[in-house]
Amino acid sequence: MTDLRIVLIGYRGTGKSSIAQCIGEMSGRQVFDTDDAIENFTRKKIPEIFSESGEDHFREIESYIISHIPESAGIISCGGGAVLRPENIRHLRRNSLIYLLTADPKTIAERITESSRPPLTDLPLIDEIRTIYAERLPLYRSAADCIIETDSSSIDEISANIIRKHENGCGDRKTRDSFSKWILQTRIPQSEKNRISHLSSQPYIGLYGIAGNPCMHSKSPAVWNHLFRELGMPAHYTWFECPDIGRLMKAARDSGVKGLSVTIPHKETIIPFLDEIRNDASTLGAVNTVQFTDRKAIGYNTDWKGIYRPLEGVQDEIAIILGAGGAAAAAVYATIMRGYKPIILNRTVERAEALALRFGGVAGPLSKIGEYDADLLINTTPIGMGDDTRTPIPVEYLKPGMRVFDLVYTPAETPLIRAALERGCSIIPGTEMFIHQLVEQFRILTGVDISVDHVRRLLL
Ligand code: NAP
Repeated sequence: MTDLRIVLIGYRGTGKSSIAQCIGEMSGRQVFDTDDAIENFTRKKIPEIFSESGEDHFREIESYIISHIPESAGIISCGGGAVLRPENIRHLRRNSLIYLLTADPKTIAERITESSRPPLTDLPLIDEIRTIYAERLPLYRSAADCIIETDSSSIDEISANIIRKHENGCGDRKTRDSFSKWILQTRIPQSEKNRISHLSSQPYIGLYGIAGNPCMHSKSPAVWNHLFRELGMPAHYTWFECPDIGRLMKAARDSGVKGLSVTIPHKETIIPFLDEIRNDASTLGAVNTVQFTDRKAIGYNTDWKGIYRPLEGVQDEIAIILGAGGAAAAAVYATIMRGYKPIILNRTVERAEALALRFGGVAGPLSKIGEYDADLLINTTPIGMGDDTRTPIPVEYLKPGMRVFDLVYTPAETPLIRAALERGCSIIPGTEMFIHQLVEQFRILTGVDISVDHVRRLLL
């Protein structure tokens, strides 16, 4: 069996402790139960800790225990709320595969009716389970490598199933092999082909990638793989360059692929191939993140967060958005969420009008730039990219004190950013959008929070 640790997470009553013990007996691995460790450490029962010091204090102790799990532990059974703190997931992910145990709320209620564990709400038991489970489900899904349903199998059967998956990988072997074959005939470099061939012969590797056409210029694989190495995660991120997103989605399902970053031209065309789509992605009509979990493909949009987050704490009124494509939609949405009134100016006025109709704001041609006194200017056109020395608007419209956000991030200092600095504006370079959306995407697809500063340093 692989040396990776087995970590069991899930709501209480899904059998984590008993299954951990059973796997321990079957495999000879040492079991570490975080709730037992908390009771040994505090010399108190968990209900006592809750009643004397409250849940927050319990979570502090739980995080301390999780950050000090002994090296010798081969199977770790976690309390139901361990997923609430991303730092716990960071520790649990190191050299591990995380299995989420699930059960129907009714089954859980039957199993825990006699439990001495404290309730977490004033609700009747079944309602408490449904409410808290629904709240925690996104966290469970982000943290889990494999999902194991426990309703209709015995402890022995579930334990044997987990051992089997631990040896062979969580996805279906045949689908995994055919997906690896598919990647090998794409345009990835020979060194990456060698790596994928090697990884596909391993018992388990969480595979992630960027889906686009073209996408070989993307810096995402370098950043993600660096983070995986630092975090000790058995995972790899590669390029999934493909003209046909439907074909990629079909091949990726059940293959063990855990997540996709989606880029041009697939952000909209991917939607019919998803099982669920989060509200913001649905409102924007664009998906840049896909999570494969529980036999489902779930779509998210983190692009708008990449514009929203760098504007944290800013209290301005008028935002001019140059352009009316996909990135402009994210910019309009993000600025509205920050309380701005957006003015959308675009070469093709009809597209600006369509955006204003969808989200609100005012639309017009680029030539109207002089009519507005903007606090914030966001460039969402590709002008200034690569060797292009143009600015999207004449520089005299850049006023001292104006905040200028250029979504173009190659080169790092675009002609617009340079002109804005020269004219006394404050600036937000396009790399900030890339970094903030990546941090959000990483949390959705792995459950781990990484710091914006850390990713920024990696890109320097
Ligand atoms: P898109 O959907 O193709 O939209 C491009 C927009 O730019 C359209 O409104 C287009 O106007 C306008 N435009 C293109 N060429 C122009 C020109 N020569 N003069 C005036 N307007 C022009 O592209 P997108 O997905 O929104 O991406 C736009 C930019 O955002 C790209 O440069 C991309 O690199 C950047 N981006 C950055 C990040 C990041 O992380 N920093 C993330 C996403 C995107 P028409 O409507 O008239 O065609």
